[in-house]
Amino acid sequence: MTTNADAPGEFTPTRRTKVRRHPERARYDRQTVYEILDQAFVCHVAFVTDGMPFVVPTNYVRVGDTLYLHGSVGSRMMKTLASGASFSLCVTLLDGIVFAPTATGHSLNYRSVVVLGNAKVVDDADMKVDAMRAFVEYVARGRWPMVRAPNESDMARTMVLAVPLVEASAKVRTGFATDGQEEYREGTWTGVLPLKLTPGEPIRDPRGDRAVRAPDNIRHYSRPQ
Ligand SMILES: Cc1cc2nc3c(=O)[nH]c(=O)nc-3n(C[C@H](O)[C@H](O)[C@H](O)COP(=O)(O)OP(=O)(O)OC[C@H]3O[C@@H](n4cnc5c(N)ncnc54)[C@H](O)[C@@H]3O)c2cc1C
Repeated sequence: MTTNADAPGEFTPTRRTKVRRHPERARYDRQTVYEILDQAFVCHVAFVTDGMPFVVPTNYVRVGDTLYLHGSVGSRMMKTLASGASFSLCVTLLDGIVFAPTATGHSLNYRSVVVLGNAKVVDDADMKVDAMRAFVEYVARGRWPMVRAPNESDMARTMVLAVPLVEASAKVRTGFATDGQEEYREGTWTGVLPLKLTPGEPIRDPRGDRAVRAPDNIRHYSRPQ
């Protein structure tokens, strides 16, 4: 499985994925959508069960034009999605805080993606292992060969769902405040405070092998930029 973000083509904006507010910030090209998906870690899945909408954060990995979700076979979210129910999910990268001259002009710089769709359970054992490998490699490249592969019990307890990426949108805000020039005045700092996810120092698990130091892919951890 490859996770190459260099994907040509566009998502066709639909009635449901057309960005209305600030449409100039909308992006529908697969390259932008995939770059955001490949950099982020967490998506929030929205689904309706018993007439009540729920939003649940979870992990995902993109492989080609498919997004994979995994979770316990007992998870309400997984069971609802496995039933074929429509759902949406979003992913957000927070790039900065925008300090404006007015109270209401304050904003955030971000890159976000919304995906609408339906999932299918991955039953094929080889495809399921491939997806599990993609999850581990997505968290840290080169990790899969260092750990025990899923056994029968892991496989039985874990559900993998495939979401074809067919209806999606991205929205990207960059730059400074958009207040009118007349709002700028002396004595008030305005600008952008960039934010990014930065790894800290690795912390050894006391039950792990003390003789092994953290490998390079952890000591020099980075996400695709
Ligand atoms: C970190 C962050 C902070 C934000 N803060 C605010 C805020 O304080 N107030 C506010 O009103 N808005 C905020 N937004 C923008 C918000 O996500 C919506 O874009 C906004 O509410 C306008 O929605 P709409 O009515 O145009 O579209 P809707 O009718 O709500 O959405 C229509 C379709 O447009 C697409 N879409 C809408 N928003 C996004 C998005 N962000 N990313 C990708 N696709 C999208 C989806 O496909 C969606 O189904 C924020 C976004 C982010 C990422």
